Amino acid sequence: MSLKRKDFLKGIAIGTLSLPVAMRAILGKNFAQSTTSNRINTGKRYEWKMVTTWPPKFPILGDACELFASVIESMSDGRIRIKVYGGGELVPALETFNTVRNGGAELGCGAAYYWAGIMPAGQFLSSVPFGMNAQQLTSWILCGGGMELWEELYRDYNVVPLLGGNTGCQMGGWFNREINSLADLKGLKMRIPGLGGRVLQKAGGTPVLMAGGEIYTSLERGVLDAAEWIGPYHDMLIGFHEIAKYYYYPGWQEAGTALEFTVNKEKYDELPEDLQAIIRSAALHVNSWLLAQMEASNAGALSELLSKGIKIRKFPPEVLGQLRKYNKEVIEELADSDPFARRAYDSYSAFRKKMNAWADLSEREYYESISIM
Ligand code: CA
Repeated sequence: MSLKRKDFLKGIAIGTLSLPVAMRAILGKNFAQSTTSNRINTGKRYEWKMVTTWPPKFPILGDACELFASVIESMSDGRIRIKVYGGGELVPALETFNTVRNGGAELGCGAAYYWAGIMPAGQFLSSVPFGMNAQQLTSWILCGGGMELWEELYRDYNVVPLLGGNTGCQMGGWFNREINSLADLKGLKMRIPGLGGRVLQKAGGTPVLMAGGEIYTSLERGVLDAAEWIGPYHDMLIGFHEIAKYYYYPGWQEAGTALEFTVNKEKYDELPEDLQAIIRSAALHVNSWLLAQMEASNAGALSELLSKGIKIRKFPPEVLGQLRKYNKEVIEELADSDPFARRAYDSYSAFRKKMNAWADLSEREYYESISIM
């Protein structure tokens, strides 16, 4: 019997298996080191504020913030109470990170790619086009070294990151023009932010930056030819199906965007250990809930959209193939732009390579087996 196996079996028998490194990353280093700390529960109560990038009362993503707050409040028996502010209620949506960093609010919620202007590496911790899906990205962040990089990246900004859910696979977007070849992307005015926009640009299109609320009118008036937003559930709430001709898939630009909770590091460090563990556990709780809710809601909305007779289209394979080539250039440029982005890219790519080999034998084959009639 190998030494490793012997130790493992012995460990199980007497219950001395140490906490794996990755688990310490999730629970927080202090949790694993426990007893020597003097940060014990003194009964002190905390009134905290949370700022978010989502519009007020935003379905699912905003609900996740309220859930996070209420789980923390009940688990801590009211020792931490959190008031959640939607984007623009306390500070503008895109001031969320800075507000948490400066202590204007103790907590924030958003996605790391919103802060790409100051931290290009953040895009790997939220979403890159043709990147890992929700399940794979969650594995990299929680168990594959992603979280350690994320903590290091935010440490200089006085912020502690926590994984706060995933949107799941998004849709390719709403188009008023059919895409049969790469030529159809030329001159296409499309609302598509970030790296996806840069890929479209390489294909001859014109990416347009626009907040959710403005997309509908712009698409309706022909200011835009196309727009990607989220997935069937949120897209149907806005009503894109009323004004756009085709709904395209797959969502190559966002295969599963990780969301974040952020905590002001000084405020976090002041907390007794049990409250730190409660905050981390609440984030994990919401992380599971959010993806489950997104998937259930998207599946339900897709079926409703189909019953309304919307025209679903798949991007032709040669279009996707060419976009993927352009994307490789975009990602290389991103990694070249910043040493930390290069480190994140290397870790992400190495993990993904193994993940893909595993997915080829597991998920991919399984999906194919259930589609054989
Ligand atoms: Ca999107």
